[in-house]
Amino acid sequence: MEDDLAVYAAHSEKTKGRIHKDDGTAYRNQYQRDRDRIIHSSAFRRLEYKTQVFVNHEGDMFRTRLTHSIEVAQIGRTIARALNVNEDLTEAICLAHDLGHTPFGHAGQDALNACMKEYGGFEHNLQSIRIVDQLEERYASFPGLNLTFETREGILKHCSRNNALTLGELGERFINNEKPGIEAQIANIADEIAYNNHDIDDGLRAELLNIEALRNCELFNIQHESVTSKWSGLADSQLRHEIIRRMINYVVSDLIKTSESMIDAIKPADIEQVRKCGKSLIKMSDSTDGMHKALKKYLRVNLYQHERVMRMANQAKETVSFLFNAYMEDSDLLTNELQPSLDEAKDIKDKNVVARVVADYIAGMTDRFAFAEAERIRSNV
Ligand code: MG
Repeated sequence: MEDDLAVYAAHSEKTKGRIHKDDGTAYRNQYQRDRDRIIHSSAFRRLEYKTQVFVNHEGDMFRTRLTHSIEVAQIGRTIARALNVNEDLTEAICLAHDLGHTPFGHAGQDALNACMKEYGGFEHNLQSIRIVDQLEERYASFPGLNLTFETREGILKHCSRNNALTLGELGERFINNEKPGIEAQIANIADEIAYNNHDIDDGLRAELLNIEALRNCELFNIQHESVTSKWSGLADSQLRHEIIRRMINYVVSDLIKTSESMIDAIKPADIEQVRKCGKSLIKMSDSTDGMHKALKKYLRVNLYQHERVMRMANQAKETVSFLFNAYMEDSDLLTNELQPSLDEAKDIKDKNVVARVVADYIAGMTDRFAFAEAERIRSNV
């Protein structure tokens, strides 16, 4: 089936391969295997209990990192299929893109990064790579999930220059200012489309946003008018969902059309030319991109910085800092499973290594486990 893909798509038989030698299977291509490994990983299952915007225990109806990742994959696959590039690879990248997220979303990541300031910092993108390259323990002959280069390239969306220098071939594009393959570019934009839209849905449901005020955003208002001119007297939830599904369709259709003409202008002969052509080929038109960015800004001010979200974020930051300091002061508080790596770190007397073990442990926690663990430690002292 891959024979029919565009020349500039990722083709699994031409993959740059995996770090550790790994025999293929008869029924799945390389990227399907990557996707399956991601789905079977424990980091993937834990996304179910990690915050997207609303902390997990605030309600069963809100998005979590898991449902967010599934929505990203669904949007990404549509775009990949329409552009005749590798849908399996796009799906694998989308499903894995948030594996490295701490509990409590961005608040948790900021807190952990602050705690790790003297020990090399914490970036959730890099953490996703640590999980798939090192931390998952599932295979007898190698650490991590041993994914293909193309999936790892897509997962590592951002990276600081210093960290890129430690990553070998994977880090090179951040140093040489190159782009990743088209599938990775799709996953990146599918992420933004997914959260812009589902966060409106969750924000309206939580009554932190309201429909009238959202009409100040052009992208929302166009679809609001189209729905209300067709139907009157819709229930709030019908109106909301009709607008949101139209917004997704509008943005995705625009993205596909614009990307087709970008690709057509460059005509890359293979994935390497995509990487080296100097610009992103997956793009929205300027006018749609402008409206999409305006909506993102609106959400930042009116939802992510909403008093109720900030209150929870502050509590989350306190919990992460408390756990970090408690474990750094007394490593016996950490789970026994971690003791071998801690003993190793103590032998070489390197506090950076201990801090990284602690950061890996905290980053892997779900929201509720982090709260429960902080409670357990507080009640013991
Ligand atoms: Mg995401």
